[in-house]
Amino acid sequence: MSSDRLEKHTVLCPHCGQPVLDHMTKCPHCGGELTPAGYQPMDETKLKKIKTITFIVGMVIAVAVLVLYFTLR
Ligand SMILES: [Zn+2]
Repeated sequence: MSSDRLEKHTVLCPHCGQPVLDHMTKCPHCGGELTPAGYQPMDETKLKKIKTITFIVGMVIAVAVLVLYFTLR
C-alpha cells in the first residue's frame, strides 16, 4: 500500500530512465539534473495573466463604485 503511494510520486529520469522521486533535483542513479514536478515555480505568463485579471477586476470595481457614487447623488 505504501509502495503504491510512493509509485505515484516517482517519475522516470530523462537521463537514465530509472524511477526517481518527483521532488528530487538530482537523479540518485546517474546524477543527472531533474526538474522537480511538485516544486516548479509559477509560470511567468500565468503570473502575468493573473496580475492582468486582478488589475481588470480592480478597475471594474473602481468604475462601478464611481458610477454608483455619481448615480446615487
Ligand atoms: Zn538518472
